[in-house]
Amino acid sequence: MRKLSVTIGLSSILFSTLFAQNALAQAKPTIKKLTVVQGVPFDQANALKRDLNLLKAMSFSTKTEEVSHSILGLTKISPDVLHDWLLDRVSYVVGEKFDVNKRLEVSTQKVLYPKIFERPDFLADYIVEDKEEATKRLFHLEELEQITAEEKTETKEDEEKDSGVMTVMSNLGAGIYNLGKENRILVGVNIGPSVREKEIVPVLSPRVGIIQIGKGLFHPNLTITPDEPNNLANSINRLGTLFHEARHSDGNGKSLIFGHAICPSELKEYAGFAACDRNLNGPYSVGVATILEMTKNCKTRCSEAETEVLAMITLDSASRIIKDRSGSNAKKWDDSAEVAKIVK
Ligand SMILES: [Zn+2]
Repeated sequence: MRKLSVTIGLSSILFSTLFAQNALAQAKPTIKKLTVVQGVPFDQANALKRDLNLLKAMSFSTKTEEVSHSILGLTKISPDVLHDWLLDRVSYVVGEKFDVNKRLEVSTQKVLYPKIFERPDFLADYIVEDKEEATKRLFHLEELEQITAEEKTETKEDEEKDSGVMTVMSNLGAGIYNLGKENRILVGVNIGPSVREKEIVPVLSPRVGIIQIGKGLFHPNLTITPDEPNNLANSINRLGTLFHEARHSDGNGKSLIFGHAICPSELKEYAGFAACDRNLNGPYSVGVATILEMTKNCKTRCSEAETEVLAMITLDSASRIIKDRSGSNAKKWDDSAEVAKIVK
């Protein structure tokens, strides 16, 4: 991920091949389906599917919390409704080895982006002298999670020596949409089996939903009960991350992709990292709401310690909601997603 974020940029896009309309992947079927792109390790794909099946078997109280309603925009929480909410925003899952530098394609087709003069709020934090640093920040929607994994790995000095940085999860589609919009070009992502066997998904909206997962998501150091990776508490934690990531597929204009703000110095351990939200319905709030709703399934199925850790995770996320740029308390942002149009 770190290497990717340094090298990705307009130059790499301009040198990639142009794609034609006939190379585009089939339009998404109306039945919501998650496509696991070739290259995702079998065990990771399986774990993800198991987590999603678990979500479908959960039960939720008849009364939906006001806060969940407000954050997710759902009047009634049910397994199907939550599952659909997720699949509206997550369509493709790619693995850690998916090299986005080699997978981007630029179309010759003209594209019209909405709200081109309205800068996304988070970009205000990304204006830095160093261009490389700016690009790095832009593509590090999930920087913090990776750093956490990295730090813990370093102390362990074990199997992760080769890379040093692990991907937990990141929303590639959101970053790519923003890149295309900034450069007013239509960018596609080749999700085919290889660099040569192309299947191109045009990124016309952050809702394209291309999520990258990596072994960090399943790493013992980031797992509540490492001895039982598949127990309910661990699944709730992973699903919470997925819901957080899904929110990056939303937004328009100011709220586009709900990119994170750089945390202020008061938030000591997060200060300087893009790990905060200046709104009440961004990725961290979505994580809090969904984890709290899912934790209702714990009852006798999670230990007391596990329930406590889940509560701590939600408190930690909630602490990252900071004031808006005017210094007022954070408010809800428009969560409808931008859609660009191809000019015929
Ligand atoms: Zn995020």
